[in-house]
Amino acid sequence: MPLAIVFDNSYARLPSRFYERVRPEPAPSPGLLVLNTTLAAELGLDAKALAAPDGVAALSGASVPEGADPIALAYAGHQFGHFVPALGDGRAVLLGELIASDGRRLDLQLKGSGRTVFSRRGDGKAAVGPVLREYLISEAMAAFGIPTTRSLAAVATGETVLRERPMPGAVLTRVAASHVRVGTFQYFAHRSDVDGARRLADYVIERLYPDIAGSEAPYAALFERVVHRQACLIALWLSVGFIHGVMNTDNMAISGETIDYGPCAFLDAYEPDLALSSIDRQGRYAYGRQAQIAQWNLARLGECLLPLLSDDRDKAVEIVVERLSDFAGQFEAAYFERFLAKIGLVEERKGDRELVTGLLSQMQAGKADFTLAFRRLADLIAHDADTGAFLSLFGEEADIEPWLTAWRARLAAGSRSPTESAAGMQAINPALIPRNHQVEKALDAIIDRNDGSAYVRLLQAVTNPFEERPEDADLAVPPRPEDRVMATFCGT
Ligand code: AMP
Ligand code: MG
Repeated sequence: MPLAIVFDNSYARLPSRFYERVRPEPAPSPGLLVLNTTLAAELGLDAKALAAPDGVAALSGASVPEGADPIALAYAGHQFGHFVPALGDGRAVLLGELIASDGRRLDLQLKGSGRTVFSRRGDGKAAVGPVLREYLISEAMAAFGIPTTRSLAAVATGETVLRERPMPGAVLTRVAASHVRVGTFQYFAHRSDVDGARRLADYVIERLYPDIAGSEAPYAALFERVVHRQACLIALWLSVGFIHGVMNTDNMAISGETIDYGPCAFLDAYEPDLALSSIDRQGRYAYGRQAQIAQWNLARLGECLLPLLSDDRDKAVEIVVERLSDFAGQFEAAYFERFLAKIGLVEERKGDRELVTGLLSQMQAGKADFTLAFRRLADLIAHDADTGAFLSLFGEEADIEPWLTAWRARLAAGSRSPTESAAGMQAINPALIPRNHQVEKALDAIIDRNDGSAYVRLLQAVTNPFEERPEDADLAVPPRPEDRVMATFCGT
């Protein structure tokens, strides 16, 4: 079965200063590690053809499929607050854009396929650990219903890459609504290339926000949309305990998709100050700081758009400031909508937000497991479970019983039956998340013993996250103190 992908490469039709044409470096001995057959079907791709030698060659960069036009995208970015004028795809190549069966235009990108003009001192390669980590976590996020880039495949290259120690090399095939980032706008703004910024903005509007194309002030509308999508995205992250870890402006997608899974992590106990990334010693990108950081990144985007918004600088600044000041309210609205649903409330009443914050502060005081607390809470109304399993999640520092009484009273005053509320809670609160210690264990088994069974099992579990299955019970529980992951690494 020959591999047939219909490409239509709109980004490659933009002016040449937007990217650099490249050829992926051929992998010496490509071998398929994981293939996302469900996603392949959604995209209208033939999974059998992808798994055949021609398909694996294309997924590794060893051959370039017909119709592809591989390019490395130019972008800049603020990394941990410091501006870097030229980052770009240093270890990624946009093969091209495919049009999915449902008409969506999607980027097909290879990550780890070799050097590009943007590689600086890097080798352009990726190690198997980070590739399989991104695959697993992005697919878990998709299963949670959170906007994210997707993972179509991971392929071993047969090469060794040098990291802290020699590692097997791999390539991830990533699928995204677009790889344009806040940093892409910064690239042009920094060069005072107003025409470039405008063409980029027009491109993004046409591709991602077509309904605003004809509006009176399209660039203001674009900024408004991106602000809103980010506000909603961060609220969703927080609702599953996700910590991105590297929220640099080059890692924030204009599409509102979660992008660039590096040393990301999930909360076990509810600790808002938690930052596990080894490169984030200051806790800049801690769980509870993510909304604030998103707003900071959006301010950087707003700065780039100023020349497009008005010839009058004061007027342009006013437009940005106004839209930016909506972020906090939009974020809070999205956050509480989600967290209220997590405790079974769908129509907000006065005092409900305090119910959410009250629970969270008891969880923080009692170091309760973030994921299990909401699941065990649902059990209390789903089948009149005794309160033991819920209460046992809270340490001595917490006093959760008065909260429980108030919550029960509020539910009773609502319009939904306990069964309905419980079903709603179980559909929104994952039972299974990629717990940091399970992710590390699964990756270690592959790297140290070439044993992929734990990984396959974990992937299967976290991509079906809302159902509690007895056979996955060990994956649902928090780590023992000695198994806790104390730091996560990029490994790039
Ligand atoms: P990230 O940490 O993934 O956000 O990447 C930051 C920048 O470093 C981007 O410009 C990447 O393309 C580049 N980069 C990361 N790893 C490598 C590598 N192994 N080789 C070349 N460039 C890299
Ligand atoms: Mg990045």
